[in-house]
Amino acid sequence: MASSSNYDVIVIGGGPAGATTATVLAQHGRRVILLERETFPRYHVGESLMPYTWFTFERLGVLEWLKRSGSPLKQSVQFVSTSGKISHPFYFFETIKHDCATTWQILRSDFDKMMLENAGATGADIRQGVVVRDVLTEGSQVVGVRAHIAGGGSETFRSSVVVDASGRDTLLASKLGWKRRDPELNKIAIFTYFKGAIRDPGLDAGATTVAYIPDKGWFWYIPLVNDTVSVGVVAEADYLYRDTRDPEAIFCREVEGCQWIREHLAPGTYLGPTRVTGEFSYRGTRAAGNGFCLVGDAFSFLDPVFSSGVFLALKSGELAADAIHASLDTGDLSANMFETYERDIRHGLDSFRHLVLSFYDRTFNFGEFIGKYPELQPQLVDALVGNVYKDLQQLFAALAGYRSRVSPVPDPMGQ
Ligand SMILES: Cc1cc2nc3c(=O)[nH]c(=O)nc-3n(C[C@H](O)[C@H](O)[C@H](O)COP(=O)(O)OP(=O)(O)OC[C@H]3O[C@@H](n4cnc5c(N)ncnc54)[C@H](O)[C@@H]3O)c2cc1C
Repeated sequence: MASSSNYDVIVIGGGPAGATTATVLAQHGRRVILLERETFPRYHVGESLMPYTWFTFERLGVLEWLKRSGSPLKQSVQFVSTSGKISHPFYFFETIKHDCATTWQILRSDFDKMMLENAGATGADIRQGVVVRDVLTEGSQVVGVRAHIAGGGSETFRSSVVVDASGRDTLLASKLGWKRRDPELNKIAIFTYFKGAIRDPGLDAGATTVAYIPDKGWFWYIPLVNDTVSVGVVAEADYLYRDTRDPEAIFCREVEGCQWIREHLAPGTYLGPTRVTGEFSYRGTRAAGNGFCLVGDAFSFLDPVFSSGVFLALKSGELAADAIHASLDTGDLSANMFETYERDIRHGLDSFRHLVLSFYDRTFNFGEFIGKYPELQPQLVDALVGNVYKDLQQLFAALAGYRSRVSPVPDPMGQ
């Protein structure tokens, strides 16, 4: 078995979280290697960005690519009620006076490839077709990984710190028994793609539309490049699987029951395939240990109704990379060095979770909420765009009034 050493950091996985971590560490001048199982471009769901991704993109130096990518411009989110009534869109520019008020609907295969190449161009050593099987430990300290190389053979890699950015595979959280399902967000998603479906005119052409289905969940409708749309339904498994387990049949049945989606898809051509994601929202009981951190979906996944996933992947990558850089400077690579990272990323997750739980409460309605608390509209828009590292306590207190019961998120020690 071959062995490679001399890295400050090994990053497992080259999605947005891993690529961001690797880029920022390389910018800090650290020796970093990123091990990715697939060869990019590869398919990934999760196409709608949040405005506050802008600031990480700026730091990574990828804004120009996004501006030139031809990706539809996302200026708003709009909600469609079960009766087919459409809300006034939440235009980000009405509240944010910054270029970030316009964001993008991205084709993840192209975007993730660009992010990975950018990490390589910044100085990270990128290896694709490498499947990490396990971590190496010395006492309680993680000191590297053991990987399978495409084409045969295994190799060990040693480093001062290992970052798990393996996404929903949750390599380390699963191995350590840290993964906890969120009991209040027990949904699944069934999704696919259409070409030639209707786009709303003007400013709304790139909007994300969230269309409610009675009592049970919602559809997303995300315009992408090449006249395609990403469309998916999210609801509890018992509801979606009530009369068949065939994803395509379930998708068609739900489209029939949702007027806005049915009408928008009518002139379109089904591209397929229809995919399913189960085991929806979860969180690790810890985000770091001695010599390692978890970032992005490898730490936590939150229901995607507000498109927070890529934002949190980027933010956690950035925060973790800065914490690792500081810990390498001190030579202390214990879990204590990652406490601030863990606190900050939990804060972001908790903020979005407040919104998501309100969204699912049957008594909650955005229009009525703003009517009742007009002074909280700016805070609500802040939360919807990802400006969650400011004081939003008033908003969360008001939102909590809409929920009959709120279970706490798993605590840091998993008790
Ligand atoms: C149905 C659905 C809809 C969503 N919609 C949105 C949306 O509209 N907007 C949004 O922002 N987010 C959305 N998300 C969330 C978003 O997709 C994720 O939050 C985001 O991709 C997380 O990035 P990541 O880098 O943590 O993980 P990933 O993007 O999953 O990347 C992980 C990488 O690790 C690699 N890997 C895994 N295991 C190993 C291993 N053992 N060795 C080496 N490599 C490995 C994988 O190949 C992969 O490339 C959605 C998610 C779902 C499920």
